[in-house]
Amino acid sequence: MPGFEMFGALERAEVQEVLDSGVLMRYGFDGMRKGHWKAKELEQALASRMQTTYAHTVSSGTAALTVAMASAGIGAGDEVIMPTFTFVASFEAVLALGAIPVLVDIDDTLTLEPGAVEKAITEQTKAVMPVHMCGSMADLKSLKGICDKYELTLVEDACQAIGGSFEGKPLGSYGDIGCFSFDFVKTITCGEGGGLITNNKDFYTHADHYSDHGHDHIGKDRGAETHPFLGYNYRISELHAAVGLAQIKRLDDFLDIQEKHYNMLVASIENLDGITLRRVPEGGVQNYSFLNFFLPTENQARKAQKELVAAGVDACFYWFDNNWHYHTKWDHLKGLQSLGPVSDQIKKRMKQQSGRTFISSDHWMGRTVSCLIKLSWTEEEVSQRASTLSSVLANVLKEV
Ligand SMILES: *Cc1c(COP(=O)(O)O)cnc(C)c1O
Repeated sequence: MPGFEMFGALERAEVQEVLDSGVLMRYGFDGMRKGHWKAKELEQALASRMQTTYAHTVSSGTAALTVAMASAGIGAGDEVIMPTFTFVASFEAVLALGAIPVLVDIDDTLTLEPGAVEKAITEQTKAVMPVHMCGSMADLKSLKGICDKYELTLVEDACQAIGGSFEGKPLGSYGDIGCFSFDFVKTITCGEGGGLITNNKDFYTHADHYSDHGHDHIGKDRGAETHPFLGYNYRISELHAAVGLAQIKRLDDFLDIQEKHYNMLVASIENLDGITLRRVPEGGVQNYSFLNFFLPTENQARKAQKELVAAGVDACFYWFDNNWHYHTKWDHLKGLQSLGPVSDQIKKRMKQQSGRTFISSDHWMGRTVSCLIKLSWTEEEVSQRASTLSSVLANVLKEV
């Protein structure tokens, strides 16, 4: 996944142009900036690559999620359905708006289970937020059907699956609004940054204004601009956007490398009796940022991850025990351990959710191992990795 492995001359050249002009901010200073508009160019490149009418960049993926939901009118007391397996950013963004995260089971796609989503809908539900974890996607067709039926906004978190697609559409463009992260460990990076894409003109305009204190961006004098609604500052800087601009031009090359490495690794394990691959919904193409598979039991999965890392197959994860990505370790959310007071609405609804169990999620997560696909490996390194991967797994599978 990490674009940082490929930081080089292109990125340096883009950053150098910003340094030479001295305009580190994306708005204003038209005369000084010598025609350099890195954030704008990055947005054009993102919209074009993702085949959407609009794209807007912000300071992080978490900011993109927050701004996306704010732009869709989500606020205090609204419920947002999200999966039990995701990064903590998902519920952070929901809570930042005073909205309420409603956790829902995942299935063998490692993303939202559509049947469980429909069951979780209440009068307060405003959005469904599938998270395309570890390079592959949710069953977007079913989720879109549900969102259409109940008039909910479909917000795709494509932070870990940029460049994948569903039914021919780039991930992030299938729902109403899609979000990306360009943090340091994502497939393409800005250092820190994020982006959102949409075909909805209102959502885009809201995002453009909201992420810059509500500025309407009309005219050429920032001080004279008006503020049609409340906003915040989630701006990306020109320096960060410059890195992203170089990286997005390389996205398809990165994806080709990931796919090639993925194919070599998957070929070494797919015929092992006892190994099942994570299900990719029909019509989906992964971005190949991770190889995800199931072992027959929880003990075997935990053991496999430990032994893989010990044998030098690094960057393999057992998310079930991980502090950041799985609901069992989100005590701070479940107990609402907040620095300041939390609204009564959130308290009440989180309390109602306490003690819920997620049998399907635990069933699949407990048996999942995910191995990161890196860009910088040589072909020899991938071959070596493939053979170690299969021999370690074959050994673990022998033991019951
Ligand atoms: C990285 C990530 C985010 C947050 O992105 P940041 O840029 O780090 O704020 C959100 N969701 C998922 C699934 C992520 O992997």
